[in-house]
Order: sequence, then structure tokens, then C-alpha cells
Amino acid sequence: WQLIEFDSKTNDEIAQLGATYNEMNERIKENFLKQKQFVSNASHELKTPIAIIKSYAQLIKRQGKVNPEVIEESVEAIDFEINRMTQLIQQMLLLATLDRGDGLTYQLVDIVKMCRDTIRSIATAFERKIQFETNIEEIEVTIDIEKINQVLYILLDNARKYSDGLIELTVENLPNHVKIDIRDHGEGISQADQEKIFDRFYRVDHGRSRETGGTGLGLAIAKEIVLAHGGSLTISSEEGKGSIFTIMIPN
Ligand code: ADP
Repeated sequence: WQLIEFDSKTNDEIAQLGATYNEMNERIKENFLKQKQFVSNASHELKTPIAIIKSYAQLIKRQGKVNPEVIEESVEAIDFEINRMTQLIQQMLLLATLDRGDGLTYQLVDIVKMCRDTIRSIATAFERKIQFETNIEEIEVTIDIEKINQVLYILLDNARKYSDGLIELTVENLPNHVKIDIRDHGEGISQADQEKIFDRFYRVDHGRSRETGGTGLGLAIAKEIVLAHGGSLTISSEEGKGSIFTIMIPN
């Protein structure tokens, strides 16, 4: 009996090992494909501004002397594209740091005060009303304040870009988490797109996102930062009604 039991246990263990190996293999393959896709998307995203810069440089070269007004227009466009490339590169480097699992400095922070301060500092530049609500006076959590501020900025900036009316930010203290909701009453996101918007470089409307200075990396960065804190970033949205992005951070 003992021998049979030992054998079956061994087989079980081998089967389990096999399953774990297959699973690991699948993950490595998945990560490799994701990495490949990222490099291909990144090259494409960087090629576009370079092509635009080149065409304006040629325009200046061909017409600058006889038609000086093309210079101002071209320099402005080149400046825009250089800023765009700089932003893209900074965001890609940040993602690489987050992928490596470093670059975060934790400290104890009153998250209610942090949200108030963030809203105050960006409200004027945004030229939009951001309403703040909370069920607590203060709550201290261990976070990387700069990175969580960046998440708030990304979500508030998206709310500003993709809606017109009031933006709301709510902080709620729950038994194990602090919950931060950022709600807008804009165009909303379809169910199919909700599954993809956190993917790197994904935009619902590519042209429009480019016009508003978007890169399609904001939400991917926001999600990585919140995950690094052991939290979650989710969306609930209805087309034509608006979106709520929910950050959960362990308290
Ligand atoms: P982007 O730089 O294009 O804003 P993000 O990663 O921040 O990139 O967002 C990805 C896409 O998700 C956006 O291009 C936009 O289509 C959609 N999106 C993000 N936030 C909102 C929102 N609040 N309302 C509607 N659509 C949104």
C-alpha cells in the first residue's frame, strides 16, 4: 500500500511540476511576445515625429530663403514633435524602471492632504472645476508620493481631455484599502475598449489622442505604479455618460 501511495504521490508531483513548467513557459512566451510588440510599437511611435521633423527641415531648406514665413510654422511644428519625442522617451524609460521593479521610494503620506494639494495645484492650469469629497479627515498610507501624484495627474488629465463638465475626485477609507475615484461625465469608453485601454500605446481614437498630446502610455504607467503598491486600478464606464477610474491602495 505504502509503495502504491508513494508512486501515485510521485506521479502527482511530476504532473504538478510539468504543469508548473508549462505555465512558466507560457508566461515567458507571452512576455517575450509583449516585449516584441512593445519594441515594434515604440519604434513606430518614434519614427512618426522623426519623419515630421525631417519634412519640416526639408521645407525650410527648400523654401526658407524665398518664403521666410514657412520658417516660423516649421520651427513650431518641429518644437511640438521634439517635445512629443521627449515625453515618449521619458515615459518609456519610466515603464522600463517599473518593469524592473525599482525606482520607487516609499514614505508615510496623508493621502487626503495629498489629493487636496494635487487638485489645488493643477485646477488653475486645467481651467476646470474638480470637486473633492472624502469620508475621512486624514489617512496615512505608505506610498511613493511622487509616483501616486503622477497617477492622479494622468487620470485627471484624461478626464480633462475626454470630457467637458465637472470632474470629481473622491477619497474613501475602507477596511483594507483607501479608494480613490476619479469621475468624469464625458464620452465614456465602450466595453470592448475598456479591456484594452491599459495596454501600452492603445488609444481609442489615435488621431485625437495625438492632437491632445497623448501617447497611449499614460494609463499603462498609472496601472504599473498602482500595482507596484500592491493595489489596483480599474475602470467602470458607460458610453455617452462618463467614466470612473478607481485606485485601490492598501492602508
Ligand atoms: P493617451 O495619452 O492617449 O491619453 P492613455 O493611456 O492615458 O493615453 O489612455 C488611453 C486611451 O484611453 C485614450 O487614448 C482614450 O482613448 C481613452 N481614455 C482614457 N481616459 C479616458 C476618459 N476619462 N474618457 C474617455 N476615454 C478615455
